[in-house]
Amino acid sequence: MILKAKAVVTMEGEPIADGVVVIQGNRIVATGMLADLEHSDTGPLIDLGDFVLMPGLINAHCHLDYTMMRHAISPPASFTAWVRRINALKRSLDSEDYLDAIARGFAELQRWGTTTVCNIESFPELMALMPSAPIRTWWFYEMIDIRHRITTDDVIAGALTFFQQHLDNHLGGFGLSPHAPYTASTALYQLADECASIQPMPLTTHVAESREEFAMFQHASGPMYDFIRALDRPMDDCGDVTPFQLLWRKGAIDARWILAHMNELSEEDFALLESLPKEGGPHIVHCPGSHQYFQHSRFPFRRLHEIGLNLCIGTDSLASTDSLSLFCELRKVRENEPWLSARELLCTVTVNPARALNRSLDLGRIIPGALADLIAFPISGAFANVLEAVIAYANPVPWMMINGQIIS
Ligand SMILES: [Zn+2]
Repeated sequence: MILKAKAVVTMEGEPIADGVVVIQGNRIVATGMLADLEHSDTGPLIDLGDFVLMPGLINAHCHLDYTMMRHAISPPASFTAWVRRINALKRSLDSEDYLDAIARGFAELQRWGTTTVCNIESFPELMALMPSAPIRTWWFYEMIDIRHRITTDDVIAGALTFFQQHLDNHLGGFGLSPHAPYTASTALYQLADECASIQPMPLTTHVAESREEFAMFQHASGPMYDFIRALDRPMDDCGDVTPFQLLWRKGAIDARWILAHMNELSEEDFALLESLPKEGGPHIVHCPGSHQYFQHSRFPFRRLHEIGLNLCIGTDSLASTDSLSLFCELRKVRENEPWLSARELLCTVTVNPARALNRSLDLGRIIPGALADLIAFPISGAFANVLEAVIAYANPVPWMMINGQIIS
């Protein structure tokens, strides 16, 4: 099959005017101008007209379980108050509610051009009841051991066996997600890390999300400290360390990890990040809508970018933002970071998360050999401004291909 469009944004080189992309099976085999194609590049030609054709977007951090919670919790005065509220809401819901939420979440992601999602799954047992995911999905098993600190690897072995049994028909893969340093022990992080060394898989966690988490570890005080201590968590790791350094210095996380948030960082945290070898730092996911909702400290986008860290964008869940559209999230970043080029901004939802998933050759770019996960939508204006037109695009995405199949 040959796809033709007014503009092909490959995320590899410059956009191609009147470009084509050749698909065989579920893979891209060539791209360029129609005249450049080899004789072997044959098949039906689909002319998408005045559309831009580009890689499908990758959402690097999402919780589909909470899709039904849009506007359910007003922006709280405290992050800890929000944690309490969502825990209460979760207890009021059953499996049917969560299955419905996940299905709606997939539909919304698809509507806005997302073809891959990193989904943190609090209820992995639901997968046995779920149809195959309609988009490429990395299911991250969320792990918490607040009270009973895990001392064996049985839990993780069980999780992996479970995913292997249930992922046969799913596109994507699985990974592990100790929740956050305040709910998961460093021993649990280390088990997850060991697991990924034996069987390569992505790892993700929440780190330094709120000022209250920072105060818990740095000062052994504040609303989160009081709340978590009352849950009988051992608190001997609190008092003189930042959340990021607690995990990094104990070897609980390393350069493979995808760290969501990293909003509250000290000068020592920056010094540590700056001291890491090039490409030896963790991947970082910023969730602009959720960040605004909680009114965290300004996200240090420019500083982290200048250090050379791999920055990705995610939506987080609808319990703390109002849209699963990555286009909306890009525009929120643009408001705060007008210096960032359109190309670099688009990399945060294509090239960068593909790298975080260790799938750079498969996802996020239109290059020979990559998986055929593509989106197309109408654009107007001069070809020279195509990347700006992509960022400004605010309608549902009318055309999508996942794994070589056109989704209608
Ligand atoms: Zn999250």
